Amino acid sequence: MKIAVCVSHVPDTATKVKVGVDEKSIDPTGVTYIINPYDEFAVEEALKTKEKFNCEVVVLSVGGENNKETIRKALAMGADTGILLKDDSPRDSFGVAKALAEEIKNQCCDLVFMGKQSVDYDNSIVGQLTAELLDYSCVSIVVDFKLDNNKIIAGREIEGGKEIVETQLPAVITTQKGLNEPRYASLKGIMAAKKKTIEEKAAAPYSSLTEIIKMKKPPAKQPGRIIGTDASAVPELVRLLREEAKVI
Ligand SMILES: Cc1cc2nc3c(=O)[nH]c(=O)nc-3n(C[C@H](O)[C@H](O)[C@H](O)COP(=O)(O)OP(=O)(O)OC[C@H]3O[C@@H](n4cnc5c(N)ncnc54)[C@H](O)[C@@H]3O)c2cc1C
Repeated sequence: MKIAVCVSHVPDTATKVKVGVDEKSIDPTGVTYIINPYDEFAVEEALKTKEKFNCEVVVLSVGGENNKETIRKALAMGADTGILLKDDSPRDSFGVAKALAEEIKNQCCDLVFMGKQSVDYDNSIVGQLTAELLDYSCVSIVVDFKLDNNKIIAGREIEGGKEIVETQLPAVITTQKGLNEPRYASLKGIMAAKKKTIEEKAAAPYSSLTEIIKMKKPPAKQPGRIIGTDASAVPELVRLLREEAKVI
């Protein structure tokens, strides 16, 4: 069995993102990029599965040269090989899924781990699209994962509880916080990752089906208002909450 883990290279969640002058993309100046946080759970689960079944883990990422930093992070955690599916212009989710599906097929991977969501565009759809293109089963938002003799038993987070589902390989699993505790890359892992080569291939050609026509920041928050500082302010506060904020 060979496992693929797909990682997205995203702006650090602590970064204050600015909209670019074209109003269609973000201004990359001063933005630091990290591995998508949900993809760390995907890498960890791929590594745990590798340790149990002694198989190979290949890391895939679609994007520009800088995505190699994120691939290398997964290699430092313990993945075996990395492939950059290069495309320097942003693609929509279907384009990412097409590039991933083609390479997953080339690599003959029958188990694929992805994050449940990429924290840049937040579409939460690449995993499901990739599974559909490959005709694999898909279990999303997974918080428990067990594999035994090609049979998968997975726990999914649902509103107010958990759903347990069973399926077979080949499958795509999208990972949610709580599935595992991603390991830190050891110094040995970081040194080893520097020596691992990241293969570069052109991502399968694609013309986006969707186009970003405008990006805008949410309106600035109104400053707070102090109604009063003692109990006499309560009637006015209640009136404002009822008539202006309409929350009671
Ligand atoms: C500033 C910026 C620059 C970008 N530049 C490029 C670019 O040069 N070329 C390009 O093709 N795209 C580029 N993208 C797009 C980006 O690589 C992905 O397409 C985007 O992050 C997918 O978002 P999504 O919400 O559809 O993913 P979701 O559906 O929310 O992602 C779910 C899961 O799918 C997997 N996944 C998502 N995207 C990728 C990916 N790109 N590679 C591997 N696995 C992935 C991850 O496991 C992720 O957790 C850029 C995006 C941004 C914000």
